[in-house]
Amino acid sequence: MTMSVHQYLCLTDNYGALVHDSTTGATACVDVPEAGPTSAALAERGWNLTDILITHHHADHIQGVPDLKAKFPNAKVWGPAKDAARIPFLDHLVREGDAAHVGSLRAKVIETPGHTLGHIVYHFEEDAVAFCGDTLFSLGCGRVFETPLAVMWSSLAKLAALPGETKIYCGHEYTQANGRFAITIEPDNPTLKARIEEIAKLRAERRPTVPTTMAAELAANPFLRVEEPAIQAAVGMAGAAPAAVFGEVRARKDRF
Ligand SMILES: [Zn+2]
Repeated sequence: MTMSVHQYLCLTDNYGALVHDSTTGATACVDVPEAGPTSAALAERGWNLTDILITHHHADHIQGVPDLKAKFPNAKVWGPAKDAARIPFLDHLVREGDAAHVGSLRAKVIETPGHTLGHIVYHFEEDAVAFCGDTLFSLGCGRVFETPLAVMWSSLAKLAALPGETKIYCGHEYTQANGRFAITIEPDNPTLKARIEEIAKLRAERRPTVPTTMAAELAANPFLRVEEPAIQAAVGMAGAAPAAVFGEVRARKDRF
């Protein structure tokens, strides 16, 4: 295995991440909420930025790119072809099934419309790591701004099919607040209860709660569990289609 990942905090609750390939020395950052922390993280490790992987067009994910490019003019920016108009500095436009390369590492692109139309996830299949941006959070999911709710459900269902051991990196540290909502939807889930306790301890020490794993999310994240009878019953939708239950759970979170 030649991949290492370093995650760091930006702004108030955004995460940036560096992906380093020790075989070639290539290093990518995933999203750029701020150039400063990204440059600092690179300098600390003595890594040279070769690539920038963008998940979606929101300012808190791309606003640091111009400053970072000024410092690392050879770095190539990868991002969603479908949102090229809103991410003006892309060098590589990628779509569903395309590969993004970081030296010898390879990420498969998964299109996950919902939070934004063009949102993509980078899945480093061989290394079992996925950068999910604002589509999937630990114990939660992104707000659905740009598609019908059912489209977001399809996107999450695609991610839910990733192998359970896949490490899930998220765009934000939202886990504790997500847990407070999740427990209202599934109060009797022992895995969720244990997780909420673990999260409280981590946050009390100001430690990150991500990455998580797909297996952990499938066991506790209400947005991935809308086919569970207990969740369907909790929202008064026993036997309803998963997309409809997802829509109801998401609407409740929006009001929470
Ligand atoms: Zn966003």
